[in-house]
Amino acid sequence: MNIILLGPPGAGKGTQAKILVAERGMVQLSTGDMLREVRASGSELGQRFGEMMDRGDLIPDGMMIEMIDARLDEPDCKNGAIFDGFPRTNAQAIALDEMLQRKSLPLKAVIELTVDEESLVGRITGRYSCAKCGAGYHEQFQRPAVPGVCDTCGHQDFKRRPDDNEATVRDRLEVYRRDTAPIIPHYEAQGLVQRVDGMAEITEVEGAVAAILDA
Ligand code: AMP
Repeated sequence: MNIILLGPPGAGKGTQAKILVAERGMVQLSTGDMLREVRASGSELGQRFGEMMDRGDLIPDGMMIEMIDARLDEPDCKNGAIFDGFPRTNAQAIALDEMLQRKSLPLKAVIELTVDEESLVGRITGRYSCAKCGAGYHEQFQRPAVPGVCDTCGHQDFKRRPDDNEATVRDRLEVYRRDTAPIIPHYEAQGLVQRVDGMAEITEVEGAVAAILDA
């Protein structure tokens, strides 16, 4: 089963994707994570990606489409893919349709996490993660049980994304409104869109997502 999680930055796509990975053995295809890996390699391409990401700009469609096309050929994607952060433009959505058809991978649903945009800035600027295992935390909403110690692995170093600052977040929200929200009608026309209240508690969102997958 393959699904797309759609919604602005901070809507909870990554959080829900990680739950589905843990509960159902699906694979999270986060283009943001893939780009951060290339960035961390320090290559020239990675540096170029980093500059674009820090401005909140989108990476060119061709590169993103190639990245996902290649990743979908890896055997673990047979367990079901969760698209998190892709597609983000109309061209990416059209390319994904073609790719899924070519690879005989049906799309079960496009789950739109709806949110109140003003609260997103606080959600995003407060978030950080364990530098070792990547477990996610939030200054206000989800602190580790023991201050400064990761609940999952016990590590004591944490990191923040460089693009999780207020100015870049506002630019990313604008890019979402301009380039990504307009792809929703593309999936509505296919009868695939399901809306979930992304402002609800994480476990409630999890339940609503599970109900859609099990329908
Ligand atoms: P995310 O982790 O999904 O918030 O993505 C972080 C940044 O990576 C975005 O602000 C974009 O600069 C870039 N990015 C991630 N996914 C895509 C995509 N599908 N198309 C273009 N740029 C992307």
